[in-house]
Parts: sequence; structure tokens; C-alpha cells
Amino acid sequence: MVFQIIKPEVRAHVGIIGGSGLYDPGIIENPVEVKIDTPYGPTSDYIIVGDISSVKVAFLPRHGRGHRIPPHSINYRANIWALKALGVKWVISVSAIGSLRWDYKPGDFVVPDQFIDMTKNRRNYTFFDGPVTVHVSMADPFCEDLREKIIGVSSKLGYTIHASGTYVCIEGPRFSTKAESRVWKDVFKADIIGMTLVPEVNLACEAQLCYATLAMVTDYDVWAERPVTAEEVSRVMASNIERARKLLYELIPHLRGEPDTSKCSCCKALEYAIV
Ligand SMILES: [Zn+2]
Repeated sequence: MVFQIIKPEVRAHVGIIGGSGLYDPGIIENPVEVKIDTPYGPTSDYIIVGDISSVKVAFLPRHGRGHRIPPHSINYRANIWALKALGVKWVISVSAIGSLRWDYKPGDFVVPDQFIDMTKNRRNYTFFDGPVTVHVSMADPFCEDLREKIIGVSSKLGYTIHASGTYVCIEGPRFSTKAESRVWKDVFKADIIGMTLVPEVNLACEAQLCYATLAMVTDYDVWAERPVTAEEVSRVMASNIERARKLLYELIPHLRGEPDTSKCSCCKALEYAIV
């Protein structure tokens, strides 16, 4: 691994944002560590740029290596800005999440298609703080084309993957109370829960990137009243990470081309959004 300051020739086509447990994908050839200065300050860590099946990939651990940065302190704007600056078109966001339903079991994968934002306004949600004002559509917040590609590859590998789900994003860093967890599940009808999707997804949209989330169920949230041991959680996480690596390795070659504007409108997200 070689550290170098970004040079114009350092470019990437696909971005991977690794969540809890995924601090190094371990599948990138010819890796170099790249530091990118952004107008928003430092990214969560150095970005690893290299090849997977001769596709240029940029990998960024969301919490930093060693899990140094809690969800509410992540510099989401710097992370997305840096990927965009590298020339990234596709972003796969990998996240460990809790399940709000029995049939989304620990070890299953979910590709959410909706989210509910229950963060508490301590984060920076936009690149456009004025004078330019932007209201992007969040009706369908994820890239449908990328979602389909993830689901297709995952199914081929024989993984249990749920093709839809509503992700409720809480502020953290604490977990929910039982009462809150039942609200997310029974009142909000959310399917999975985590702390990092928002504002990453909003910012990816403003940056006109094709963005989708690979959510990996680690355990049932507290509504289930099913005590989980740390040992159980770490065993499920280790197995999830191994399968996520394999999935990414198989998926990346499908992202070799430019996004197909007949299949999604991510790259036109700002077209009618600027006021
Ligand atoms: Zn797209």
C-alpha cells in the first residue's frame, strides 16, 4: 500500500462506502491510498483506489478504519464530495442494520427502496446552503438500476436478499428503546433500522450519483425481545462481510459502463431541482 496525495490521473468509476465491519474490502488490486482535500474538511479516512476486474474502484470506510467515527459525526459531505471528485459514477453503500420484521433474518441482505429520516438535525444534509437553493426529489431515493444489479448478482450467488424495504434512520449513537422500536415497526411500518443512511443518500442524489445500499441484517432490533449476545452479533457480521466481499467482486464488472439514462435518472437529479 502506497500513500499518495491525489493527482489528476487518480480516477475511479465505482465507489464503495464500507460500513461497520467492512474497513478494507480486501479484493482491490494495485491499491493506493489517496487523501483528498474537500471544501468540507477531511473524509472519514484515506480512500483506497485500485482495480476490481480492471474496473477502477474507490473504497472508503464510513466510520474510518478501527471504527473511530460515530454515525452523527461522520463527515458525509466530504465523503460524497471526494468520491464525486474522483470521477465516481456508481456508489454502493454497505451497511450493517437491525431488522424490524421476523422474515428479514440475521444474515439476510436487504436492498432498501425507501427511507424514513428520524435523525435530529445535527447533520449537514445538503451541498447547497445558499445562495443556490436546491430541492431534490426523494420520491425514489435509490438508483433503481443499481438496486436491480445488486439483487441479480446476489440471487445468482444464492444469498437470501430482500428486494425492497424501508430503512428508518435514527440519530444514534444509542440504540432505540423498546417503545421506539415498536413505533418504527408497527406505526411507521419500517423494515430495517440503522444510523448512517441519511444524509449520505441525500448528498449522493445532489451529486447526481447512482447510489444504492446493500444492507446486511446483523440482528433483530429490541422490539423482538430476543436477547442477542455480542458473540452472536460478531459471528453474523463476520459471515455477512465475507459474503458482501464476494458479492462486490461479482457485481463490479457489471458497473463497467456509464449509467444508462433510460434505466434511472440519477445523473439528472438537479435538472428541475434548482430554484
Ligand atoms: Zn442511477
